Amino acid sequence: MPEPVKNQPVAGWGRYPVHECREYRPEKRRSIGDILGERAQPNYIARGLGRSYGDTAINEGGGVISCLRLDRMLGFDEATGVLHCEAGVSFSTIIDVFLPRGYFIPVTPGTKLISIGGAIANDVHGKNHHRDGSFGHSLIEFELQLPSGEIINCSREQNAEIFWATVGGIGLTGIILTAKFRLRKVPSGFVTVDYLKTKDLDGVLSAIHESDATYQYSMAWVDCLASGRSLGRSVLMRGNHVGPGGLPAAKRSDPFNMGGRFSPTLPFDFPQFALNPLSIRAFNVVFYALSPGGQGVITDCDRYFFPLDSIHHWNRMYGKRGFVQYQVTVPTAEVQAIVEILQAVAKSGKASFLAVLKKFGQGNEGLLSHPIEGFTLTLDFAVNDRLAPFLRELDKTVLKHNGRLYLAKDAVMTPETFRAMYPRWEEYKALRQRIDPDNLLSSSLSRRVGLTP
Ligand SMILES: Cc1cc2nc3c(=O)[nH]c(=O)nc-3n(C[C@H](O)[C@H](O)[C@H](O)COP(=O)(O)OP(=O)(O)OC[C@H]3O[C@@H](n4cnc5c(N)ncnc54)[C@H](O)[C@@H]3O)c2cc1C
Repeated sequence: MPEPVKNQPVAGWGRYPVHECREYRPEKRRSIGDILGERAQPNYIARGLGRSYGDTAINEGGGVISCLRLDRMLGFDEATGVLHCEAGVSFSTIIDVFLPRGYFIPVTPGTKLISIGGAIANDVHGKNHHRDGSFGHSLIEFELQLPSGEIINCSREQNAEIFWATVGGIGLTGIILTAKFRLRKVPSGFVTVDYLKTKDLDGVLSAIHESDATYQYSMAWVDCLASGRSLGRSVLMRGNHVGPGGLPAAKRSDPFNMGGRFSPTLPFDFPQFALNPLSIRAFNVVFYALSPGGQGVITDCDRYFFPLDSIHHWNRMYGKRGFVQYQVTVPTAEVQAIVEILQAVAKSGKASFLAVLKKFGQGNEGLLSHPIEGFTLTLDFAVNDRLAPFLRELDKTVLKHNGRLYLAKDAVMTPETFRAMYPRWEEYKALRQRIDPDNLLSSSLSRRVGLTP
C-alpha cells in the first residue's frame, strides 16, 4: 500500500486557489485500487501535471492521486499510428519519442506539459478544433478504475455511456489507467505560418472564417486593451505542417530535428505593482507593433504550438496571489458576446497580457466536454479583491449569449452558472450517482459547482 507523501498545499497552474491536500504518488496501476479501497481520506481526485488553471485537480481536505509515475508506453502500431500508454505519460514525452519517427499528437493544447489522463478528463482542444475536434476525437479506448475498484474498458462501443462521461468529465468517473489513441503522421517537425495583422474584431473574424478551409491551425492574439474603432485588433497566426521540400536547405536532410532551445526560468513572483494597466498596455502595444506580418514563416512545432513552455514558471508573472484564466465559448451566432466582453475588459483596465481567440468546430458527445461550435476567447486576470465581482458581471454576458466557461480554467464559477452553461449536468450527475454512490471521487471544483456534496 503506497503511503501518502504528505499533507501539502496544492494549486493549479493559476496558483489560485491553494488547498491543503494529502498527495499519493502510486508507481503501479494496481496501487490505485489499494488507495481507493483503503478509504483513508474522505475522497480522492486524480491529478496529472497540474496544468489546469483552477481547482479541478485539487481536493481540499482530501486525497490527490498523482498519476505521473504511471508513465509507461505499452505499445505502438506503426501501421495505424495507434499508441497505447499509461495515463501519466506526458505529451512532451510522446513528442520526444515519436516526432523523430514522423508522428505528432493530433490535438495539442498550448502546452505539451500535460498528461494523457488530463487530456482525456478535460477533452482538451488545440488550434485545429475547427478541423480535427478535441482530444476525444483521436481517442480509441481507455481503461478506467471505477470507485468500486472494478476496472473496465471504455470506448465508443463498450461502456459508451461512461466513455462519454469521462471524456471532459473532470476526473469524477474513475481513475484512467491506460489509453489508446491515434497519432498523426507529419512530414517534418516544422509548420509554415502566415501572420496577419487585423485592425479590429470584424477583420479578425472574417479572416478566421476565410481561413478555415486552407489552414489546419489557426489562432489570434487579441489586444484586449484596444478600444473604440480598434476594439479586437489582433494578430492572426495560421499554419500548416510543411514537408522537407518547403524547409530551408540546411534543415532538409534532418526535417524532424527542431534543434535545442534556451529555456529561461522566471526566478521570482512579480510584485503586484508590476502588473498595472500601464505595463499591460505597453506590452500589448509593443506585441502588436513587433509581431511579424509575414507569410510562410517556417517555425518549429515547439515554438508554434507551445511558445509559453519555453519560460519555466511563467505563472509567477501574476504575483503571489495568482491569476484566473477566463475562457469563454459562445455559439457562432452570438459573437456579439465577444464584443461586449472586450468592451468590458478594455473599460475596466483589467486586461491580460495574453488574450487568445479561436474558432471551434462542432462539439462531441462528452457530457461536460467544453467545445461547442463557435468562438472561444481566453483572458488572464491577476487575482485581487475586485476580481470576483467583475467576473460575475462577465458571466452574465456569457449566459445572455448562451455561452459557457471552460472548467479546466475555471476557479470562480457558481453552481447556478455551471448548471446553466452545461445543460447535460443532470445526466452526468445521475450516471455518477450510479458508479460512485458514496462520492469517493470529489474535487475542490466539483464541490464548488455542486456536482458532489
Ligand atoms: C500554457 C497553457 C496552455 C494551455 N492551453 C490549452 C489549450 O489550448 N486548450 C486546452 O484545452 N487546454 C489548455 N490548457 C489547459 C490544459 O491543457 C488542461 O488543463 C489539461 O487537462 C492539463 O492536463 P494535466 O495533465 O496537467 O491535468 P491536471 O490539470 O493535473 O488535471 C486535469 C483534470 O484531469 C483529471 N485527471 C488527471 N489525470 C487523470 C487520470 N489518470 N484519471 C482521471 N482523471 C484524471 C484531474 O482530476 C482533473 O480533473 C493550457 C494550460 C496551460 C498551462
